[in-house]
Amino acid sequence: MSERPPVADGSDDPANADVDTDPTTDTRDTSGAAATTDDAVTEPSGSDHPLRERIAAELRTHDHLVLCVDFDGTLAPIVSDPASAALRTGNRDRLERLRDHPAVTLAVVSGRGLADVRERVGVEDIHYAGNAGLERAVAGSDADDPIEVHEDARRAEPHLERARETLRDRLGWAAGVSVEDKRWSLAVHTRNAPDTHERVAETVGRVVERVGGLHVSEGHQVFEVGPATDVNKGAAVSALADEHAERHDADPLVMYVGDDRSDRSAFGVAADRGVAVYVGADGPDEAHHVADPTVVSDLLDWLVTTGLVPSASE
Ligand SMILES: [Mg+2]
Repeated sequence: MSERPPVADGSDDPANADVDTDPTTDTRDTSGAAATTDDAVTEPSGSDHPLRERIAAELRTHDHLVLCVDFDGTLAPIVSDPASAALRTGNRDRLERLRDHPAVTLAVVSGRGLADVRERVGVEDIHYAGNAGLERAVAGSDADDPIEVHEDARRAEPHLERARETLRDRLGWAAGVSVEDKRWSLAVHTRNAPDTHERVAETVGRVVERVGGLHVSEGHQVFEVGPATDVNKGAAVSALADEHAERHDADPLVMYVGDDRSDRSAFGVAADRGVAVYVGADGPDEAHHVADPTVVSDLLDWLVTTGLVPSASE
């Protein structure tokens, strides 16, 4: 059970080409315990690793894990062009192994459009939530099946269209700023023109106010414009956990791993019902913090090789 997976780095996966390297040790873990073995990722106890210890303790009292993971900045490194974002090396293999674990329900929960994120992740038979929960596709559905779209999104469609056209028109001055159409929401990216961020914020705010029926939230170098609605990533995570609890008459452990301010709702749900993991610095107090997507990959490795082993053997 402590053997390393035969293929852990996904280097044979062409979709992962040209994405960053896959260090097999967590260099941010200063405990030294892992460094004494060349099998650091699968350290048997994780006893000096507070996050792993916490998850292991929670798993001793839950027989199922609902694991929800963000895409950009979590499974995929942040890149200057959002259109070129791709899974970190090895993450597809990790996700497939977690999907195949009998004690895991796996979901990718993203602000991207659902079809977009599903194609980038490329793992079949897991749950996907796109547009921060406005779109959902359950495990077992495939790309040809209709995607479930929340009625608040459909209602907002004409407002979104107007906002898209107006924003493209009003932001013409801001070279490098792009307005991404995600069908049920818009993303205004300032990553390539960071100096414009404050002025863009004013323009986006004014347009959203004028069009009405919409809401704007600010992420890392992006403004997300979507329907004024209660639907968010947290609601998507809750829904998955509730569905499992209803079917099995037992609360699962809920884990959410994400990197953006717009993920706050999901951190809240995960902190209440399990473990919230924030990727980066300055995250919410209720979340454990990890440095970057390489640590997320290590965490997924640890879960599938070590953390989940006790529940699998029960
Ligand atoms: Mg993200």
